[in-house]
Amino acid sequence: MFNTEIRKHIEETSCHGFLMIDTANSRNWGFGSSERLKCDSCSYVSPYYRLYEELETGKRGRKPAKINVGLQTGLMTTPISNTGMRRILAHANIAPPPPNVSAMHRAAGKVSEAMVALNVKDMHDIREKIKQDNRLCRLKDGTKVNVEGDTCYNNPLFNSGGHTPFQGGTIAVTTMSENNTRSKRIVGVHVANKLCMVARPLRNQGIAVDCPNHDGKCTANMSETDVIGNEEKWNEQVARKINTDLNIASFTGDGDSKGHSGVDKAQVQQTVHFKDLRHLGNSLKRAINKAQFNSGMFAGPASKRANFQNRFALSIRARCMSELTRAHKNTKVI
Ligand SMILES: [Zn+2]
Ligand SMILES: [Zn+2]
Repeated sequence: MFNTEIRKHIEETSCHGFLMIDTANSRNWGFGSSERLKCDSCSYVSPYYRLYEELETGKRGRKPAKINVGLQTGLMTTPISNTGMRRILAHANIAPPPPNVSAMHRAAGKVSEAMVALNVKDMHDIREKIKQDNRLCRLKDGTKVNVEGDTCYNNPLFNSGGHTPFQGGTIAVTTMSENNTRSKRIVGVHVANKLCMVARPLRNQGIAVDCPNHDGKCTANMSETDVIGNEEKWNEQVARKINTDLNIASFTGDGDSKGHSGVDKAQVQQTVHFKDLRHLGNSLKRAINKAQFNSGMFAGPASKRANFQNRFALSIRARCMSELTRAHKNTKVI
């Protein structure tokens, strides 16, 4: 930009003034910008130069800048929101003025669509790889896979704090990963989402809106009155996705029988059910904490007894877990 323009400026105007970036008139495209040069002595201004790379989309209209798409891709791997990112940049004076949040959200929406498609393809590839590996191992049925899975929520389900008659969570993410190898690659995901940007303001005005069946774009994929903690349904959805390529031979879950029956519903073949150690240990601890012991079981004053009982529960959990871990180590899995 400078080399071309300095020569052009002297040739066209014979002026020996200095060229500088016309920052007052820069054109921003998210975090990318186009700049022009102006002369400090005469009225010479250069054409605009694009200082960012464009992404080829094959569509009509203005092309997205690589820097904006790259930023959104990076943000997806961190818990930082667009608002948070904008604040960081504004405080550090890195991109003055930072782009507005709605533009960043639009970019995020486009990037996340591509990210979802990429991940769906990736999980399919992993499932195909498992099938190939099974064949290499000369298994009788190459489509068998052992999986483990659980659902996590954005808020604890019991934590509605009396503000809402519904369960506290609004997003439930169910993940299942393969147990055939040590890398435990994720083979199926389902996200249940109640949050809808269209319905929320309308509901605040007292208008009844039924997600996801309303006009406009609905970001929710379930109704507000549906049970978010329905792990049976979520497990069934994920198991159906896995079943497009593989058959689930065994499912290790949190011990919730509903969750297991969800996996059973999704396929014809029988599934062996296992409980995972972490949830098993926790329920063991809870049971011991709740149990009524003989008054002579724990020595000392009554105020200390609850503490002793809790320590006893922790100790039993730790011992049982180590027994189980040892048993697994000593058993050769064929
Ligand atoms: Zn000049
Ligand atoms: Zn909606």
